[in-house]
Formats: sequence, C-alpha cells, structure tokens
Amino acid sequence: CGIFAYLNYHVPRTRREILEILLKGLKRLEYRGYDSAGVGIDGGNGKDWESNAKSIQLIKQRGKVKALDEEIHKQQDIDLDVEFDVHVGIAHTRWATHGVPSPVNSHPHRSDKTNEFIVIHNGIITNYKDLRKFLESKGYEFESETDTETIAKLVKYMYDNRENDDINFATLVERVTQQLEGAFALVFKSVHYPGEAVGTRRGSPLLMGVRCDHKLSADHIPVLYRSTAKDKKGCATLPRTDQDTCLFPVDEKAVEYYFASDASAVIEHTNRVIFLEDDDVAAVKEGRLSIHRIKRRAGDYPARAIQTLQ
Ligand code: GLU
Repeated sequence: CGIFAYLNYHVPRTRREILEILLKGLKRLEYRGYDSAGVGIDGGNGKDWESNAKSIQLIKQRGKVKALDEEIHKQQDIDLDVEFDVHVGIAHTRWATHGVPSPVNSHPHRSDKTNEFIVIHNGIITNYKDLRKFLESKGYEFESETDTETIAKLVKYMYDNRENDDINFATLVERVTQQLEGAFALVFKSVHYPGEAVGTRRGSPLLMGVRCDHKLSADHIPVLYRSTAKDKKGCATLPRTDQDTCLFPVDEKAVEYYFASDASAVIEHTNRVIFLEDDDVAAVKEGRLSIHRIKRRAGDYPARAIQTLQ
C-alpha cells in the first residue's frame, strides 16, 4: 500500500545508502498499513553503473520493513559498498488484495526470471484475468497469484513486440496503461533502460519529489513551459490546457528524483513535489523529467505544479 522510488543522477551513492533511503521511505509510509515489502535495485558489483544496471536484484519479504531489512543483510552476493553514480531503486509495501501475503506475491513483480522489467503497484487491476489469459496464451509464465504480475508481463510483451529498437520506456508504459482497467499507481524499472524510471497513475496517488541545487523557477523551464505563471513563492505552474507534455530540464548535472504515494515519504529529502494527475506518465531519462498526459479530457484540466511544501 505504499510506493517509494529513488533515482540518483550523477549523485554518487553506495548501495548501502540507496537501500537506506528506500527503506526509510517505506517506513514513512508504514501508517498506510501493509503485510509485506520489497525492493528492486541494480544487481551488478562492478565499477561502472551502466553495466551494473544490466541486472536487477529483487529482495522481498513478508511482514514489516524491518523483516525486509534483515533479509537484505542476509544477501551474500550483494556488495553494499559498491558506489553508483546513477541508479534507480524502487520499493513497495503491499496490502494484499489478490493472493496471500508471501515473498512471491510481494512487489516488485517481474517480467521474467531474469528480471528484465520490474514494477511496483498500488491498487487493483480489475481486468487482470483476461490479461493473464492473453499473456499465458502467448507463452508468458506466471509465478504469483497477483493482479500486478500481469503488468510486469504486459510491459515485456510490449517490448518484445515493439516495432522499432529505440522505442522509449515512457511509450511502452503508455501502451501498458491503455490495456489496464481499475486503479493503479505504478513505477517501472528495466535492464533495457539503465538510469531511467517511469511512473504513472490512475485512481491511486503518486507524486514526485525533485532535489537539485539550482533554484526551480519558470526561468528554468523551456519552451513547453513558457505559458506558465509564477506564483508569489516563485513556483512554476504548468499550463492547464494547451500542452500535454512538459519537461523539467537539468542544467546542472546532479539531480535526485523520488516517487512516493505520499509527501510524508519525501519531505526529509526535498520540499519540491509534483502531484501527478490521472493518466500522467512521468519519465526520467538522462536526468530529465518529462510528464506527458495520455488522455486529453475536455474541460477539466487540473494544473500540474512544482509545489513547495511548507
Ligand atoms: N493488488 C495488488 C496486490 O494485491 C497491489 C496491492 C497494494 O496496493 O498494495 O498485490
């Protein structure tokens, strides 16, 4: 029942630090209630972050975040001192709706045994039986009883059936969400997209935190933001109707992003947050965040704003 993800871009962090940030994020979401927890991080133990990102390690446990913490420290093959200049880590606390609380039913869920794609999910996918039947007919093998696992398989299906090799991660996720019914907040990570993360939501909450040294203001926001107005605190308010893509550029190299179900999980890191709206797809690639709204709804368009929490 809680999502937390952390992306450090040219901010060197050891695996130990990354795991601490992820577990602390989950602990801040504990009040939402849960029965199991899990994390997905880069698996490699080499020096170069890009090659480390070619494998993903999942650690999942039934029970409290503390039990997950203990499980992490039991892992023999994982070197906690490896430093990552760039890394994406995703973490989840689960409130079981489909399938008993167990390590295999815990999130992140994976596309296949080699963990090509992993996903964390809050909510319920109401058409998961039909999706599962379809994917099984295509040869995708399921290991859990959850509705969420269909999403992990579906993103791989979209990837395996892509029409061109350089399809971007956000497009894949967009295609996945078009097949989903129900409520969801999702964050994806993949060995095919090192240093990238994609989040989206419909009906379940999801927000992003941004942390970097330079000031965020409308001046830092390029063409797509030009119609923005600054509020009195100097925050940029994004266009309401005529743009459905926005880009948050990073002029300086170092930036950190967080995805969370609730602002209480990011407030210790940053007070700059963007509350995602239904059908927003938020993608971080090469340190830049772009947010694209899939469906254009007539009339009502709530503003997406970089807000400063008090
Ligand atoms: N429906 C999913 C499951 O049972 C997600 C539950 C949640 O929001 O934690 O695994």
